[in-house]
Amino acid sequence: MVKSVTTGPEPEKFVYSFGSGHAEGSGARKDLLGGKGANLAEMARLGLPVPPGFTITTEVCTYFYANRKNYPKSLKDEVEGHLKLVEKGVGRRFGDASNPLTVSVRSGARASMPGMMDTILNLGLNDRTVEGLAKVSKSPRFAWDCYRRFVAMYGDVVMGLKPMDKRDRDPFEVILEKKKFAYGVHLDTELPVDALKELVRDFKAEIRYRTGLLFPEDPREQLWGAIGAVFSSWMNERAIVYRKLNDIPETWGTAVNVQSMVFGNLGDDCGTGVAFTRDPATGENLFYGEYLINAQGEDVVAGIRTPQKMATLEKRMPAVYKQLLGIRRTLEDHYRDMQDIEFTVEKGTLWMLQTRTGKRTGFAEVRIAVEMVEEGRITAEEAVLRVNPDSLNQLLRPIFDPDAKYAAMKEGRILAKGLNAGPGAATGRIVFTAHDAFEWAQRGEKVLLVREETSPEDIKGMNAAEGILTARGGMTSHAALVARQMGKVCVAGCEVLRIDASLRTMAVKPASSDMKVLREGDWLSIDGTSGEVIEGKLATKPSEVLQVTLEKSLDREHSEIYRRFAVLMSWADDVRRLRVRANADQPDQALNALSFGAEGIGLCRTEHMFFGGERILAMREMSLADKTEDRERALDKILPMQREDFIGLFRAMGSRPVTIRTLDPPLHEFLPHGEKEREAVARLTGVDPRLVARKVADLHEMNPMLGHRGCRLGISFPEITRMQTRAILEAACRVKKEGIEIRPEIMIPLVGHVNELADQGAIVRATAEKVFESQGIRVDFLLGTMIELPRAAITADEIATVAEFFSFGTNDLTQTTFGLSRDDAGKFLPEYVRREILSADPFEKLDQRGVGKLIRIAVDLGRGTRPALKVGICGEHGGEPTSVEFCHRTGLDYVSCSPFRIPIARLAAAQAALRDGAKVKNAPKSVSAGTVKPAAGVPATGSEPAVVAASGTIPAHRTSSRPAAAPARSKKPATAKRAVREAPAKARRTVRG
Ligand code: PEP
Ligand code: MG
Repeated sequence: MVKSVTTGPEPEKFVYSFGSGHAEGSGARKDLLGGKGANLAEMARLGLPVPPGFTITTEVCTYFYANRKNYPKSLKDEVEGHLKLVEKGVGRRFGDASNPLTVSVRSGARASMPGMMDTILNLGLNDRTVEGLAKVSKSPRFAWDCYRRFVAMYGDVVMGLKPMDKRDRDPFEVILEKKKFAYGVHLDTELPVDALKELVRDFKAEIRYRTGLLFPEDPREQLWGAIGAVFSSWMNERAIVYRKLNDIPETWGTAVNVQSMVFGNLGDDCGTGVAFTRDPATGENLFYGEYLINAQGEDVVAGIRTPQKMATLEKRMPAVYKQLLGIRRTLEDHYRDMQDIEFTVEKGTLWMLQTRTGKRTGFAEVRIAVEMVEEGRITAEEAVLRVNPDSLNQLLRPIFDPDAKYAAMKEGRILAKGLNAGPGAATGRIVFTAHDAFEWAQRGEKVLLVREETSPEDIKGMNAAEGILTARGGMTSHAALVARQMGKVCVAGCEVLRIDASLRTMAVKPASSDMKVLREGDWLSIDGTSGEVIEGKLATKPSEVLQVTLEKSLDREHSEIYRRFAVLMSWADDVRRLRVRANADQPDQALNALSFGAEGIGLCRTEHMFFGGERILAMREMSLADKTEDRERALDKILPMQREDFIGLFRAMGSRPVTIRTLDPPLHEFLPHGEKEREAVARLTGVDPRLVARKVADLHEMNPMLGHRGCRLGISFPEITRMQTRAILEAACRVKKEGIEIRPEIMIPLVGHVNELADQGAIVRATAEKVFESQGIRVDFLLGTMIELPRAAITADEIATVAEFFSFGTNDLTQTTFGLSRDDAGKFLPEYVRREILSADPFEKLDQRGVGKLIRIAVDLGRGTRPALKVGICGEHGGEPTSVEFCHRTGLDYVSCSPFRIPIARLAAAQAALRDGAKVKNAPKSVSAGTVKPAAGVPATGSEPAVVAASGTIPAHRTSSRPAAAPARSKKPATAKRAVREAPAKARRTVRG
């Protein structure tokens, strides 16, 4: 029972009523009433039929824990008063033997925590009131069924009989099983009234036996027991873990909602259902959901009967259906977002049990956001803020056929999970070498390249493969960043794979079966969006947006998905301050990047140009040369090839800025490691193969990432910097002569001291003068540096005396700030994240407190020296939304990322600007809450509503109110379909009366 203490100052009001067309609280008080309570209050205020009840506030939860599980002294009277109101509202009395009120007691925190805390239904039943319920409902079976469920639930939740671990069986389940066996029935619903009565008796005996306590017959004692149990469940292990994972502060506390029960299982004029106000998979503006006649929520979960599609309710219960359509519209008008609702029909009367913002796929996110602007419900600013930038991946990537993926899952073909390094879906036959990948692809085979890890030598094979799977390496490993830049699907760091490239096998032990061994040529699929590795061949389909932008195989007028994507991106581009560039090394990648909206190239890694055909031979010759003349001879061979590459890049990018970085990786990365390759170099250079082998060994470094790389190479071998500068600027002069006003930026990597940059800068400038003289034309270019070492960041004022721009190489800066090898951290970082030692992988999400602090210092110091210093970022973080937001706040000029991440970066940059108060200028005229013009007429299921925009502000490109190519419902994307399957099921799991 309630204990009262008098410590601490007490707010005056702890309980808020709702229902019967009024509410003391409102939707704005989620902090006080929790999400469920606030939305119930809001629905009641809107005049929707909500079963009367009351919410005990989250402040009581805080008080409860601060006062050794006691309540404020006024709470008891407040609850009593509100209970009276509920009794009045429903015309039944709590504990009344002839016409009893029964209630549900549920938790409800500010943020939704599905299934984490406790719920009790049918509270108020005892040996006397059950008879009253039987009489009122005219169904003794129904009443006793409610009673036996209540006793079990109360025993579990309040009296502590809940099974504690997976091996434990629920004692009430065991008794129920025995009862069914004794009565020779399979289903609970087949048990006769007598059996239900026996169950109540047996359940109570079990409680007595296990706890020594009697089941409380007094409804008030039951109520306080339930309230205490719900508050206590805020601190159960599940809830604590969930809060940690979702950043929900413990101080928020939960509210407790006490609500009169309504029953959907009293006959054929009753039912229960869940629905979304729009299709959560596609976003289509139709009423989407399922219901069951004569059922409780639990029956739906039990899967005994298949729920019916919402549209059929129109025939079964026309009046209820019509009322629901009205409610659907009221809720969308009010909340100005798609809602996920639960309802129950008791004897022909509709009751709303819940509404909340509905979860949706990326496709639906974009569609609903854009269409709600077009309908005049929300502003363009709200639409841009509503779409999670990462969700755009779903619109860009090839995807698995949802049914095929589902079948694979059912058949236990999901073999393992690695890092989701390159999103999308790929299926192909396994090859274990880059060489084979290339050869097989030449023969027309689709292949997946499976490697322990990849290296620059693998580029050709990576390019030929449908996707790349590696056993080692993290999110910035070679495989991951090259795959993203190429737009390849990639699962990296799948540590459980045992790859034997010599035997050409890959072994893995899935959780659900014995060790499996796959061989070269076997079919394998990888989902780079989820990181899953799947046995066998799975059908894929390309994204519609890419069909329009990249492949040009689909006319833009024929893709509604593209149209909505383009509209959203146009609002985003209008508002963002940060420019978005691409990391691209080849003209084809540059063209891809442009089609995604790149505004320049932020990083061209020139070393990636050194791998094809003869280039690698010349590069090896250069790397192995002992004398400057020999090196220069080799570089002379490379020069024309580099120049051609740069000409291609400049032509592709036109007058947009292009940042080209001088050679960065340690030379040994280019060396011939196999015998055959060493012999080829020996033949070319006329050197003994043994000498080649020795030179390769000489170049070996214990820690190459901190070794002879970056500007250190150009300092040791200035001829490399000279050749690269010549190639860049000769190409620039050529393209400028074609009439293009190009803007090259030459970038020196891995600078730690201003003198390093001064040394390399002098070479660049001297070479530039020679080029301009010989070409008879000058090109304006910038000289800058990467800031990727802590020393560079903290001496950025000195470095800015030479550098005209900074580009933060946050891959190396993260590596060197943490002292974490970016290639090896995959071994232990996942555990760091799992155990919350780090909140995220710092190679994926910029570590704002540490690495970010260095960036802030460098920006301030750099601009202190050179106010016009241009500053950007080109590490992988340039395409990650939280990092992009950081770049906006820190005043960077641009972010640069792999081509497929460009739309994500554009949207994230726009959201950062909006949070800063920026406004979309090219948007349809803004609307504000309360001035919503809803779609004309209530749309019938399956029909597209007329598009009514505020003040006739439908964008010009919106030519029709009906999508030209609305996606066929059978062709939902994998994630979309999953969401459809899961969303109603999840909602269903919320047991209702
Ligand atoms: C970086 O270090 O962030 C960077 C962009 O350079 P790379 O990944 O090539 O070392
Ligand atoms: Mg780097």
